[in-house]
Amino acid sequence: MAREPKPKEGVTPAQAIAEAKARYKADLQQRLAAKHILDPQEVGGAYNAGRALDTILNGQLRKITAEDLQRFAALAKSLGKKFAGGITAKQIINLAHPERRQRANTEIHYAVPMEIKGSVIHFTTSASPGSRAARHHVYVDFVGLSGATAAPAEEEQLPALARQLATGSIRIDCDCEDWRFVFRYIATVGNYNSMRPETGFPKIRNPQLDGVACKHVLRTVHLLTQPIALQRIEQMIKLARGTLDRKATARLKKAQADDMALEQMARKDWKRTQIETTEERTERLAAARAIRAAAASQAAKTISPGTSERDRKVLVARAQKHIEPLVAMGVMTREAADAMYAQATKG
Ligand SMILES: [Zn+2]
Repeated sequence: MAREPKPKEGVTPAQAIAEAKARYKADLQQRLAAKHILDPQEVGGAYNAGRALDTILNGQLRKITAEDLQRFAALAKSLGKKFAGGITAKQIINLAHPERRQRANTEIHYAVPMEIKGSVIHFTTSASPGSRAARHHVYVDFVGLSGATAAPAEEEQLPALARQLATGSIRIDCDCEDWRFVFRYIATVGNYNSMRPETGFPKIRNPQLDGVACKHVLRTVHLLTQPIALQRIEQMIKLARGTLDRKATARLKKAQADDMALEQMARKDWKRTQIETTEERTERLAAARAIRAAAASQAAKTISPGTSERDRKVLVARAQKHIEPLVAMGVMTREAADAMYAQATKG
């Protein structure tokens, strides 16, 4: 059986934030010292073949050619157009590499909104079981915050404003290697990076410029429209309006952060934890409706008034096999399913 993920003990929000800062600094130093970066001028044609940089295409490691550079430039250009309007949480999920989404679903169990700083919320997420890091740091910059604070609004309008920000344009960053070496360049060209830009083309890790974000970002943006994050976004709006004492509320307390992580890890509710694309969701709901209709008509057909109690039980057990997955997926409530079984058993 897989080991149950546990939040790492003994880390306070202040320690987590200090860790994020140290990692950011180390990443920046490493980047400044890097010698094998393919910079924008080179992609634009100023490449000196004497540098003999490598790329991996179709699984093969080889030297970069002039044709590669032309293709890289064309890819970067079309990427810039694709994200001209910024990016939303929904787009991140829909455009993500399916394998990253799969890994976010199975390996990354929570995201916690640790600190609010201006228009940015710093989330910590769990790391995958095999990772060297205990956690990762994801930053979400809510581009629309200044617009949301410019217009006066009553307290009761805050939830709607928070939802608007959560579903609107955002910029993101993560400290993991996948983000640094595979996606940060795409985010920079697409203008949806929230921290330092990356202008070096990912010639080895992602020369096809495929996908948009790592699994930690996916887990985080999936949380944005749920109460845990929406409450923090409301708080961010209040802070920006100067209606709260900044210092007292910007950062979570350790107990709050631990509770948020534990609550997410304990969820058995498939619908709330599963990161699915708009298309997957539509398909799931349509399939569930079809199964539910078939199960209901089957139950009505086979359980005729004269059926013995023993036969009824067998038929109900058979129906349960179809209906229980629907309960787990959140398309049918526990109560509705139980009522259906009770009625069918009774006759
Ligand atoms: Zn990441």
